[in-house]
Amino acid sequence: MLQSKRKFPLAFWIFIGLILGILAGIGLMKTPHIAVEYIKPFGTLFLNLVKFIVVPIVLFSIMSGVISMKDIRKVGKIGIKTVIFYMTTTAIAVVIGLVFANVFKGTFGQISTSGLEYTASEAPGFITTLINIFPSNIIAPMSEANMLQVIVVALFFGFAVITAGEKGKAFADFVESANAVSMIIMDAIIKFSPIGVFCLITPVVAENGTAILGSLLTVLTVAYGAYIIHMVVVYSLAVKAFAKMSPLKFFGGMMPAIMMAFSSASSVGTLPLNLECTEKLGAKKDVASFVLPLGATINMDGTAIYQGVCAVFIAACFGVDLTLGQQVAIILTATLASIGTAGVPGAGMIMLAMVLQSVNLPVEGIALVAGIDRIFDMGRTTVNITGDAACTLIVSKLEEKAERNKA
Ligand code: ASP
Repeated sequence: MLQSKRKFPLAFWIFIGLILGILAGIGLMKTPHIAVEYIKPFGTLFLNLVKFIVVPIVLFSIMSGVISMKDIRKVGKIGIKTVIFYMTTTAIAVVIGLVFANVFKGTFGQISTSGLEYTASEAPGFITTLINIFPSNIIAPMSEANMLQVIVVALFFGFAVITAGEKGKAFADFVESANAVSMIIMDAIIKFSPIGVFCLITPVVAENGTAILGSLLTVLTVAYGAYIIHMVVVYSLAVKAFAKMSPLKFFGGMMPAIMMAFSSASSVGTLPLNLECTEKLGAKKDVASFVLPLGATINMDGTAIYQGVCAVFIAACFGVDLTLGQQVAIILTATLASIGTAGVPGAGMIMLAMVLQSVNLPVEGIALVAGIDRIFDMGRTTVNITGDAACTLIVSKLEEKAERNKA
Protein backbone atom coordinates (compact mmCIF):
# COMPACT_ATOMS: atom_id res chain seq x y z
CA MET A 1 0.00 0.00 0.00
CA LEU A 2 2.63 2.45 1.07
CA GLN A 3 4.77 1.58 -1.90
CA SER A 4 1.95 1.97 -4.38
CA LYS A 5 1.01 5.21 -2.66
CA ARG A 6 4.28 6.74 -3.69
CA LYS A 7 3.64 5.87 -7.32
CA PHE A 8 0.52 8.01 -7.56
CA PRO A 9 0.46 11.77 -7.10
CA LEU A 10 -1.35 13.32 -4.19
CA ALA A 11 -4.11 14.50 -6.53
CA PHE A 12 -4.98 10.88 -7.25
CA TRP A 13 -5.37 10.06 -3.57
CA ILE A 14 -7.40 13.18 -2.91
CA PHE A 15 -9.67 12.16 -5.78
CA ILE A 16 -10.09 8.70 -4.28
CA GLY A 17 -10.89 10.32 -0.92
CA LEU A 18 -13.51 12.51 -2.55
CA ILE A 19 -15.20 9.67 -4.44
CA LEU A 20 -15.17 7.34 -1.43
CA GLY A 21 -16.48 10.16 0.74
CA ILE A 22 -19.37 10.85 -1.63
CA LEU A 23 -20.21 7.13 -1.78
CA ALA A 24 -20.02 6.80 2.01
CA GLY A 25 -22.23 9.89 2.32
CA ILE A 26 -24.84 8.37 -0.01
CA GLY A 27 -24.68 5.16 2.01
CA LEU A 28 -25.27 7.11 5.22
CA MET A 29 -28.08 9.31 3.92
CA LYS A 30 -30.63 7.43 6.02
CA THR A 31 -28.46 7.64 9.14
CA PRO A 32 -26.67 10.98 8.78
CA HIS A 33 -25.97 11.16 12.52
CA ILE A 34 -23.34 8.42 12.11
CA ALA A 35 -21.48 10.58 9.61
CA VAL A 36 -21.89 13.67 11.75
CA GLU A 37 -20.84 12.05 15.02
CA TYR A 38 -18.05 9.77 13.88
CA ILE A 39 -16.64 11.09 10.62
CA LYS A 40 -17.14 14.86 10.72
CA PRO A 41 -14.91 15.37 13.82
CA PHE A 42 -11.92 14.05 11.90
CA GLY A 43 -12.66 16.42 9.06
CA THR A 44 -12.76 19.24 11.60
CA LEU A 45 -9.50 18.03 13.10
CA PHE A 46 -7.85 18.12 9.70
CA LEU A 47 -9.21 21.57 8.93
CA ASN A 48 -8.05 22.81 12.33
CA LEU A 49 -4.52 21.68 11.54
CA VAL A 50 -4.63 23.44 8.19
CA LYS A 51 -5.90 26.63 9.82
CA PHE A 52 -3.25 26.40 12.49
CA ILE A 53 -0.45 26.42 9.96
CA VAL A 54 -1.99 28.90 7.55
CA VAL A 55 -1.23 31.97 9.68
CA PRO A 56 2.52 31.35 10.06
CA ILE A 57 2.68 30.36 6.40
CA VAL A 58 1.04 33.57 5.24
CA LEU A 59 2.93 35.74 7.70
CA PHE A 60 6.40 34.40 7.00
CA SER A 61 6.02 33.75 3.31
CA ILE A 62 4.76 37.29 2.61
CA MET A 63 7.52 38.79 4.74
CA SER A 64 10.14 36.70 3.03
CA GLY A 65 8.63 37.50 -0.38
CA VAL A 66 8.73 41.24 0.29
CA ILE A 67 12.24 41.07 1.70
CA SER A 68 13.48 39.16 -1.32
CA MET A 69 11.97 41.76 -3.68
CA LYS A 70 14.13 44.38 -1.99
CA ASP A 71 11.88 47.10 -3.38
CA ILE A 72 8.74 48.55 -1.85
CA ARG A 73 7.52 49.95 -5.18
CA LYS A 74 7.66 46.51 -6.75
CA VAL A 75 5.29 45.16 -4.12
CA GLY A 76 2.96 48.08 -4.88
CA LYS A 77 3.00 47.30 -8.59
CA ILE A 78 2.16 43.65 -7.97
CA GLY A 79 -0.59 44.74 -5.59
CA ILE A 80 -2.20 47.01 -8.15
CA LYS A 81 -2.15 44.40 -10.92
CA THR A 82 -3.61 41.86 -8.51
CA VAL A 83 -6.44 44.07 -7.32
CA ILE A 84 -7.35 45.06 -10.91
CA PHE A 85 -7.52 41.42 -11.95
CA TYR A 86 -9.53 40.44 -8.89
CA MET A 87 -12.10 43.22 -9.24
CA THR A 88 -12.55 42.78 -12.99
CA THR A 89 -13.09 39.03 -12.85
CA THR A 90 -15.47 39.39 -9.92
CA ALA A 91 -17.60 41.90 -11.81
CA ILE A 92 -17.63 39.56 -14.84
CA ALA A 93 -18.64 36.74 -12.50
CA VAL A 94 -21.73 38.56 -11.17
CA VAL A 95 -22.74 39.42 -14.73
CA ILE A 96 -22.50 35.74 -15.72
CA GLY A 97 -24.50 34.80 -12.64
CA LEU A 98 -27.20 37.36 -13.44
CA VAL A 99 -27.41 36.40 -17.11
CA PHE A 100 -27.76 32.72 -16.21
CA ALA A 101 -30.37 33.41 -13.57
CA ASN A 102 -32.40 35.65 -15.90
CA VAL A 103 -32.30 33.16 -18.75
CA PHE A 104 -33.38 30.26 -16.54
CA LYS A 105 -35.69 32.24 -14.29
CA GLY A 106 -38.66 30.43 -15.78
CA THR A 107 -37.43 27.11 -14.42
CA PHE A 108 -37.30 28.31 -10.82
CA GLY A 109 -40.25 26.59 -9.20
CA GLN A 110 -42.58 28.75 -7.18
CA ILE A 111 -41.67 28.32 -3.56
CA SER A 112 -43.93 29.68 -0.87
CA THR A 113 -42.43 32.64 0.94
CA SER A 114 -44.94 32.75 3.76
CA GLY A 115 -43.58 32.25 7.25
CA LEU A 116 -39.99 32.71 6.21
CA GLU A 117 -37.64 33.76 8.95
CA TYR A 118 -34.04 34.76 8.70
CA THR A 119 -32.19 37.05 11.00
CA ALA A 120 -29.39 38.58 9.04
CA SER A 121 -26.15 38.95 10.95
CA GLU A 122 -24.78 42.43 10.66
CA ALA A 123 -22.81 42.60 7.42
CA PRO A 124 -19.98 45.14 7.72
CA GLY A 125 -20.30 48.23 5.53
CA PHE A 126 -17.69 49.32 3.03
CA ILE A 127 -15.94 51.84 5.27
CA THR A 128 -15.86 49.40 8.18
CA THR A 129 -14.36 46.77 5.91
CA LEU A 130 -11.71 49.25 4.85
CA ILE A 131 -10.87 50.30 8.38
CA ASN A 132 -10.84 46.70 9.59
CA ILE A 133 -7.92 45.96 7.29
CA PHE A 134 -5.66 47.71 9.79
CA PRO A 135 -5.06 45.88 13.06
CA SER A 136 -4.95 47.73 16.35
CA ASN A 137 -2.68 45.16 17.91
CA ILE A 138 -0.25 42.61 16.61
CA ILE A 139 -1.55 39.40 18.18
CA ALA A 140 -5.26 39.66 17.30
CA PRO A 141 -4.86 39.25 13.52
CA MET A 142 -3.05 35.99 14.16
CA SER A 143 -5.27 34.66 16.90
CA GLU A 144 -8.36 35.45 14.84
CA ALA A 145 -6.72 34.30 11.60
CA ASN A 146 -7.79 37.56 10.00
CA MET A 147 -5.95 37.17 6.72
CA LEU A 148 -6.13 40.76 5.51
CA GLN A 149 -4.69 42.00 8.79
CA VAL A 150 -2.01 39.31 8.78
CA ILE A 151 -1.05 40.50 5.29
CA VAL A 152 -0.81 44.09 6.55
CA VAL A 153 1.40 43.04 9.48
CA ALA A 154 3.63 41.06 7.13
CA LEU A 155 3.91 43.98 4.72
CA PHE A 156 4.86 46.43 7.47
CA PHE A 157 7.58 44.16 8.82
CA GLY A 158 8.78 43.25 5.35
CA PHE A 159 9.10 46.89 4.34
CA ALA A 160 10.81 47.74 7.62
CA VAL A 161 13.38 44.99 7.14
CA ILE A 162 14.23 46.35 3.70
CA THR A 163 14.51 49.88 5.07
CA ALA A 164 16.58 48.79 8.09
CA GLY A 165 19.35 47.47 5.83
CA GLU A 166 22.19 45.84 7.78
CA LYS A 167 20.31 46.07 11.10
CA GLY A 168 17.43 44.08 9.60
CA LYS A 169 19.66 41.21 8.51
CA ALA A 170 19.12 39.04 11.59
CA PHE A 171 15.34 39.49 11.32
CA ALA A 172 15.46 38.58 7.64
CA ASP A 173 17.41 35.40 8.42
CA PHE A 174 14.90 34.51 11.11
CA VAL A 175 11.99 35.00 8.69
CA GLU A 176 13.72 32.85 6.08
CA SER A 177 14.25 30.06 8.58
CA ALA A 178 10.77 30.33 10.11
CA ASN A 179 9.31 30.17 6.62
CA ALA A 180 11.21 26.99 5.79
CA VAL A 181 10.20 25.36 9.06
CA SER A 182 6.51 26.29 8.62
CA MET A 183 6.58 24.82 5.10
CA ILE A 184 7.74 21.49 6.50
CA ILE A 185 4.80 21.39 8.91
CA MET A 186 2.48 22.37 6.07
CA ASP A 187 3.77 19.57 3.84
CA ALA A 188 3.21 17.07 6.61
CA ILE A 189 -0.38 18.22 7.13
CA ILE A 190 -1.10 18.25 3.40
CA LYS A 191 -0.14 14.58 3.20
CA PHE A 192 -3.30 13.83 5.14
CA SER A 193 -5.57 15.70 2.73
CA PRO A 194 -7.01 12.54 1.10
CA ILE A 195 -8.32 11.46 4.51
CA GLY A 196 -9.31 15.02 5.36
CA VAL A 197 -11.30 15.36 2.14
CA PHE A 198 -13.06 12.04 2.82
CA CYS A 199 -14.06 13.09 6.33
CA LEU A 200 -15.23 16.53 5.19
CA ILE A 201 -17.38 15.42 2.28
CA THR A 202 -19.09 12.36 3.81
CA PRO A 203 -21.23 14.24 6.38
CA VAL A 204 -22.13 16.91 3.82
CA VAL A 205 -23.54 14.34 1.41
CA ALA A 206 -25.21 12.35 4.19
CA GLU A 207 -26.91 15.45 5.59
CA ASN A 208 -27.82 17.27 2.38
CA GLY A 209 -28.39 14.43 -0.05
CA THR A 210 -32.16 14.43 0.12
CA ALA A 211 -32.59 18.21 0.30
CA ILE A 212 -30.78 18.72 -3.00
CA LEU A 213 -33.30 16.60 -4.78
CA GLY A 214 -36.10 18.94 -3.77
CA SER A 215 -37.37 22.13 -5.31
CA LEU A 216 -34.01 23.85 -5.05
CA LEU A 217 -32.45 21.61 -7.67
CA THR A 218 -33.01 24.13 -10.46
CA VAL A 219 -31.45 27.13 -8.75
CA LEU A 220 -28.55 24.93 -7.68
CA THR A 221 -28.06 23.75 -11.25
CA VAL A 222 -28.17 27.33 -12.53
CA ALA A 223 -25.53 28.41 -10.00
CA TYR A 224 -23.27 25.47 -10.86
CA GLY A 225 -23.76 26.14 -14.58
CA ALA A 226 -22.57 29.71 -14.05
CA TYR A 227 -19.67 28.55 -11.84
CA ILE A 228 -18.50 26.16 -14.55
CA ILE A 229 -18.86 28.66 -17.39
CA HIS A 230 -16.90 31.26 -15.43
CA MET A 231 -14.09 28.82 -14.71
CA VAL A 232 -13.95 27.28 -18.16
CA VAL A 233 -14.34 30.48 -20.16
CA VAL A 234 -12.96 33.38 -18.11
CA TYR A 235 -10.07 31.62 -16.37
CA SER A 236 -9.11 29.56 -19.42
CA LEU A 237 -8.97 32.67 -21.60
CA ALA A 238 -7.12 34.62 -18.93
CA VAL A 239 -4.38 32.06 -18.30
CA LYS A 240 -4.06 31.38 -22.01
CA ALA A 241 -3.80 35.06 -22.94
CA PHE A 242 -1.77 36.45 -20.06
CA ALA A 243 0.08 33.52 -18.49
CA LYS A 244 0.62 31.76 -21.84
CA MET A 245 -0.46 28.49 -20.27
CA SER A 246 -2.73 25.85 -21.72
CA PRO A 247 -6.00 25.74 -19.76
CA LEU A 248 -5.73 21.95 -19.58
CA LYS A 249 -2.39 22.19 -17.85
CA PHE A 250 -3.80 24.83 -15.53
CA PHE A 251 -6.84 22.85 -14.44
CA GLY A 252 -4.84 19.62 -14.28
CA GLY A 253 -2.28 21.19 -11.98
CA MET A 254 -4.99 22.78 -9.86
CA MET A 255 -6.91 19.55 -9.21
CA PRO A 256 -5.64 18.90 -5.65
CA ALA A 257 -6.59 22.42 -4.54
CA ILE A 258 -9.90 22.26 -6.42
CA MET A 259 -10.91 19.05 -4.69
CA MET A 260 -9.85 20.41 -1.32
CA ALA A 261 -11.86 23.60 -1.85
CA PHE A 262 -14.89 21.60 -2.94
CA SER A 263 -14.85 19.43 0.17
CA SER A 264 -13.82 22.06 2.74
CA ALA A 265 -15.73 25.11 1.42
CA SER A 266 -12.92 27.26 2.77
CA SER A 267 -10.57 29.38 0.67
CA VAL A 268 -8.34 29.96 3.65
CA GLY A 269 -8.23 26.24 4.41
CA THR A 270 -7.24 25.56 0.82
CA LEU A 271 -4.45 28.12 0.87
CA PRO A 272 -1.57 25.73 1.67
CA LEU A 273 -2.52 23.36 -1.15
CA ASN A 274 -3.09 26.26 -3.50
CA LEU A 275 0.41 27.56 -2.81
CA GLU A 276 1.79 24.16 -3.65
CA CYS A 277 -0.24 23.76 -6.85
CA THR A 278 0.54 27.21 -8.25
CA GLU A 279 4.23 26.87 -7.51
CA LYS A 280 4.29 23.51 -9.28
CA LEU A 281 2.63 25.24 -12.22
CA GLY A 282 5.51 27.67 -12.30
CA ALA A 283 4.34 30.66 -10.27
CA LYS A 284 7.06 32.69 -8.61
CA LYS A 285 7.16 32.00 -4.91
CA ASP A 286 7.27 35.62 -3.81
CA VAL A 287 4.30 36.46 -6.02
CA ALA A 288 2.25 33.42 -4.96
CA SER A 289 2.83 34.04 -1.28
CA PHE A 290 1.41 37.54 -1.63
CA VAL A 291 -1.28 37.17 -4.29
CA LEU A 292 -2.89 33.96 -3.00
CA PRO A 293 -3.55 34.95 0.63
CA LEU A 294 -4.86 38.27 -0.60
CA GLY A 295 -7.15 36.45 -3.01
CA ALA A 296 -8.36 34.07 -0.32
CA THR A 297 -9.88 37.10 1.40
CA ILE A 298 -10.75 39.64 -1.27
CA ASN A 299 -11.31 37.62 -4.44
CA MET A 300 -14.56 35.70 -4.47
CA ASP A 301 -15.87 35.18 -7.98
CA GLY A 302 -17.88 32.12 -7.02
CA THR A 303 -19.45 33.98 -4.14
CA ALA A 304 -20.35 36.84 -6.47
CA ILE A 305 -22.00 34.43 -8.93
CA TYR A 306 -23.95 32.84 -6.11
CA GLN A 307 -25.15 36.21 -4.90
CA GLY A 308 -26.29 37.21 -8.37
CA VAL A 309 -28.15 33.95 -8.94
CA CYS A 310 -29.74 33.90 -5.49
CA ALA A 311 -30.84 37.53 -5.71
CA VAL A 312 -32.77 36.77 -8.90
CA PHE A 313 -34.12 33.54 -7.44
CA ILE A 314 -35.29 35.18 -4.22
CA ALA A 315 -36.83 38.04 -6.18
CA ALA A 316 -38.70 35.53 -8.34
CA CYS A 317 -40.04 33.73 -5.28
CA PHE A 318 -41.38 37.04 -3.97
CA GLY A 319 -42.85 37.81 -7.38
CA VAL A 320 -40.46 40.72 -7.98
CA ASP A 321 -39.00 41.40 -11.41
CA LEU A 322 -35.61 43.08 -11.04
CA THR A 323 -35.05 46.10 -13.27
CA LEU A 324 -31.84 46.65 -15.17
CA GLY A 325 -30.88 49.37 -12.71
CA GLN A 326 -31.38 47.02 -9.80
CA GLN A 327 -29.24 44.41 -11.51
CA VAL A 328 -26.45 46.95 -11.94
CA ALA A 329 -26.76 47.68 -8.22
CA ILE A 330 -26.37 43.95 -7.58
CA ILE A 331 -23.20 43.88 -9.69
CA LEU A 332 -21.70 46.70 -7.62
CA THR A 333 -22.71 45.45 -4.21
CA ALA A 334 -21.85 41.82 -4.94
CA THR A 335 -18.38 42.87 -6.11
CA LEU A 336 -17.85 44.91 -2.95
CA ALA A 337 -19.50 42.29 -0.75
CA SER A 338 -17.20 39.59 -2.06
CA ILE A 339 -14.22 41.66 -0.92
CA GLY A 340 -15.61 41.80 2.59
CA THR A 341 -16.39 38.08 2.63
CA ALA A 342 -14.06 36.00 4.75
CA GLY A 343 -12.66 32.85 3.15
CA VAL A 344 -14.49 30.52 5.51
CA PRO A 345 -17.56 28.31 5.06
CA GLY A 346 -20.86 30.13 4.96
CA ALA A 347 -19.48 33.67 4.84
CA GLY A 348 -20.94 34.37 1.40
CA MET A 349 -24.48 33.80 2.66
CA ILE A 350 -24.09 36.50 5.31
CA MET A 351 -22.98 38.94 2.65
CA LEU A 352 -25.98 37.99 0.52
CA ALA A 353 -28.01 40.04 3.01
CA MET A 354 -26.14 43.16 1.93
CA VAL A 355 -26.83 42.43 -1.73
CA LEU A 356 -30.54 41.85 -1.13
CA GLN A 357 -30.83 45.04 0.90
CA SER A 358 -29.23 47.06 -1.87
CA VAL A 359 -32.22 46.32 -4.08
CA ASN A 360 -34.83 46.32 -1.32
CA LEU A 361 -35.48 42.60 -1.41
CA PRO A 362 -36.56 41.02 1.88
CA VAL A 363 -33.59 39.56 3.71
CA GLU A 364 -35.82 36.71 4.95
CA GLY A 365 -35.48 35.38 1.41
CA ILE A 366 -32.12 33.97 2.43
CA ALA A 367 -34.03 31.33 4.38
CA LEU A 368 -35.08 29.89 0.99
CA VAL A 369 -31.53 28.90 0.15
CA ALA A 370 -29.96 28.67 3.61
CA GLY A 371 -30.77 24.99 4.04
CA ILE A 372 -28.44 23.93 1.28
CA ASP A 373 -25.92 26.73 1.61
CA ARG A 374 -23.10 24.24 1.99
CA ILE A 375 -23.79 22.82 -1.47
CA PHE A 376 -23.67 26.30 -3.02
CA ASP A 377 -20.59 27.02 -0.91
CA MET A 378 -18.58 24.04 -2.18
CA GLY A 379 -18.96 25.26 -5.75
CA ARG A 380 -18.35 28.93 -5.02
CA THR A 381 -15.23 28.20 -2.98
CA THR A 382 -13.88 26.09 -5.84
CA VAL A 383 -14.36 29.02 -8.21
CA ASN A 384 -12.91 31.45 -5.66
CA ILE A 385 -9.60 29.64 -5.25
CA THR A 386 -9.25 28.86 -8.94
CA GLY A 387 -9.53 32.59 -9.61
CA ASP A 388 -6.82 33.28 -7.03
CA ALA A 389 -4.57 30.78 -8.76
CA ALA A 390 -5.22 32.15 -12.24
CA CYS A 391 -4.32 35.63 -11.03
CA THR A 392 -1.16 34.34 -9.35
CA LEU A 393 0.08 32.68 -12.52
CA ILE A 394 -0.72 35.74 -14.60
CA VAL A 395 0.89 38.27 -12.27
CA SER A 396 3.86 35.96 -11.95
CA LYS A 397 4.27 35.81 -15.72
CA LEU A 398 3.95 39.59 -16.02
CA GLU A 399 6.61 40.02 -13.33
CA GLU A 400 8.96 37.65 -15.10
CA LYS A 401 8.46 39.61 -18.29
CA ALA A 402 9.10 42.91 -16.53
CA GLU A 403 12.28 41.54 -15.01
CA ARG A 404 13.51 40.26 -18.37
CA ASN A 405 12.83 43.62 -19.98
CA LYS A 406 14.78 45.33 -17.23
CA ALA A 407 17.71 42.97 -17.69
N1 ASP B 1 -16.70 29.68 1.66
C1 ASP B 1 -16.27 30.69 0.74
C2 ASP B 1 -14.76 30.70 0.68
O1 ASP B 1 -14.12 30.33 1.62
C3 ASP B 1 -16.79 32.03 1.08
C4 ASP B 1 -18.27 32.03 0.89
O2 ASP B 1 -18.98 31.60 1.80
O3 ASP B 1 -18.73 32.42 -0.19
O4 ASP B 1 -14.20 31.06 -0.30
